[in-house]
Amino acid sequence: MMDYFRGNVTAMAAYIPGEQPKPGSQIIKLNSNENPYPPSPVVLEVLQNFNSESLRRYPNAYGEDFRLSASQVLNIPSDWIIVGNGSDELLNVVVRACTEPGKKVAYPIPTYVLYRTLTQVQSAELVEIPYGENYELPLDQLIATNAAVTFIATPNSPSGHVVPIDELRKLASKLSGVLVIDEAYVDFAQENALELVKEFENVISIRTLSKGYSLAGVRLGFGIANPKLLSGLYKVKDSYNIDAIAVAVGAAGISDQVYKNDCVAKIKASRVQLAIALKQLGFRVWDSQANFLLVQPLEVNAKYLYQKLKEQGILVRYFQETRLDDKLRITIGTNEQNQILINALMNLLNPVPSPLQGEG
Ligand SMILES: *Cc1c(COP(=O)(O)O)cnc(C)c1O
Repeated sequence: MMDYFRGNVTAMAAYIPGEQPKPGSQIIKLNSNENPYPPSPVVLEVLQNFNSESLRRYPNAYGEDFRLSASQVLNIPSDWIIVGNGSDELLNVVVRACTEPGKKVAYPIPTYVLYRTLTQVQSAELVEIPYGENYELPLDQLIATNAAVTFIATPNSPSGHVVPIDELRKLASKLSGVLVIDEAYVDFAQENALELVKEFENVISIRTLSKGYSLAGVRLGFGIANPKLLSGLYKVKDSYNIDAIAVAVGAAGISDQVYKNDCVAKIKASRVQLAIALKQLGFRVWDSQANFLLVQPLEVNAKYLYQKLKEQGILVRYFQETRLDDKLRITIGTNEQNQILINALMNLLNPVPSPLQGEG
């Protein structure tokens, strides 16, 4: 094929999303950190009563109904909220608004691989700094890099660990660029970084309805930041980046905190159970404040387990990345799904001896 692309695009690897089986297939899907429970009944009601007149017109360019709903829930003015087509779009908007060739994007690794993709598309300079052995933040190196954009996912994927607020505060106070705190998993964690958004105008917290609210399919994320920071991001986003259905569904979804908290409580309880069961099977399991566990099989090859589970219709995530290629990331499912996973792992690790054949 002719090379139609910019040099950086030709040179870069594509981001590989988690596999998505066809709807209706009997797959246990524990590879994309989706919520195993259905969206709130309030969301289904909004969908059923959706007025087709709103399909004929362009939607509100700022997702106003969602902003108002989120503003009430978070107790923050609505003009501090920017809405995106998934939080992935907002991560992209920040990179496009703040970086160019010669400017740096920095983050600790291992983390969300999309940060690399977005940086490479923009031809900005990539600065990946390894986390410490026990996921200590490389704070001094991040400060010394002083990138135009610094990403911190907390809870981090795929480790599930949380970066302490005091370290984020120190980072925010020393950076002259933007600090993006990716809080995709905040609903499952004990703390959040909202106070830093109020303290520092260079901080944006980016959140999503995909994980805690069981709405990955509608593509709705939002950022919380000082309106001065948001003003630049608004210049870059598509005018009509979020559709009318997503806004209506998202506004309803975020308003039903009782339902969300209920699902989160179930997932957290399952997280404890699954961690215990996996440790009993001889896995190393990292403490997680997210809806997944990073685990390391100590006696079997991780990629082998990933493939064998897949053959049995159980999808987990395997990353061909430094420090991750001997580990698996497993989304917390329902207790029933988790039990099926445990049974499958038990059989793979301690195969039942086949009955002796013949009489010899
Ligand atoms: C899932 C995830 C996102 C993307 O969420 P969407 O809103 O569905 O685009 C962003 N950041 C991290 C770290 C994630 O794991």
